[in-house]
Amino acid sequence: MAAAEEFVKANESYAQRFDKGDLPVPPARRVAVVTCMDARLIPSRFLGLEEGDAHVIRNAGGRAAEALRSLVISQRLLGTNEVVVIHHTDCGMLTFRNEDLHAKVRDELGADASHIDFLPFSDLEQSVRDDVRLLRESPLIGDDVTVRGFVYEVETGRLRPVD
Ligand SMILES: [Zn+2]
Repeated sequence: MAAAEEFVKANESYAQRFDKGDLPVPPARRVAVVTCMDARLIPSRFLGLEEGDAHVIRNAGGRAAEALRSLVISQRLLGTNEVVVIHHTDCGMLTFRNEDLHAKVRDELGADASHIDFLPFSDLEQSVRDDVRLLRESPLIGDDVTVRGFVYEVETGRLRPVD
């Protein structure tokens, strides 16, 4: 069975016990989480989030630069005033360089991706510090917005602050 068909089946039981159809659009806890798309991370579980609580913006690595568009919408239009950046141990972004992926796209697809910075990193803690700083210094993020950075450990399920 294709994943999409399995999803439809799984959703049937979710919808059966669903009782949150009247939540407002703005997140109740006024926070946006920026984190990696890694399949081992389920932010709602490890952060204790319920429907309606928070924006969770995910991309490869949980990179802030790519999340900026969504963060401006989150803050200007939907009232969030806190950002939590969460990168994680054993992230795939630690395993390649831009040149490697540019070459792979060229070899496998015959396409040119050389204009894309895939935002890989070689130092996990430093990548969190870089993204927290990027947001704190960005003119698109208000001065009243709190930005904190963490590493999530896929080995233990624990969240570790990065200062
Ligand atoms: Zn990752």
